[in-house]
Amino acid sequence: MPFADDCIFCQIAQKKIQSNIVYEDENFLAFLDIHPANKGHVLVITKNHIEDLLKLPEEQAKEFFSVVQRVANGIKIATNSDALNIVQNNGAAAGQAIPHVHIHIIPRFEKDGLSLGVFRQGKYEGNEILAIRDLIKSKIPEKRIERKIQEIEEKEEKQKEQKRSAQHIRHIRRETEIA
Ligand code: 5GP
Ligand code: ZN
Repeated sequence: MPFADDCIFCQIAQKKIQSNIVYEDENFLAFLDIHPANKGHVLVITKNHIEDLLKLPEEQAKEFFSVVQRVANGIKIATNSDALNIVQNNGAAAGQAIPHVHIHIIPRFEKDGLSLGVFRQGKYEGNEILAIRDLIKSKIPEKRIERKIQEIEEKEEKQKEQKRSAQHIRHIRRETEIA
């Protein structure tokens, strides 16, 4: 499992640093945040050292979010909270203090006075909103297309393999006929 020596969460994942674990499986770990926003605040991490969500392979991201969903359910029941915030700081400029991918699950209670991620709300000028919409849209690959390409490549590889083994069989037959 690839760990980084100077990473606190890698040390937690390897149990070199103590943490209060609430869930663990082969690839993920969930433990109580040492400075909780509310009691029951949990961090879910990958065991591998992966810096942020964008570097996480898509298949692992799916698994990651399914773990988050399960853990969140448990937290909600255990803390009898009214709601939950799922927070993910991605990169230093977004407030990510520990560069090892993690998701915060924070139980919320009516009037708990907690204020999370209060952001200013600006506005677009003229047609700017359309330009930004189109630019972002053009940079998001359609997953189905990626899948199709992968499927085609796998099919071609299988066909090549079948061809190779057919050739191999013909070759063996010829050799036994000669002998
Ligand atoms: P970030 O700002 O990177 O999204 O959040 C990092 C979180 O890790 C913070 O909420 C902080 O309280 C928590 N944290 C930092 N060091 C430790 C530690 O050694 N153990 C635990 N359990 N949590 C930690
Ligand atoms: Zn790490």
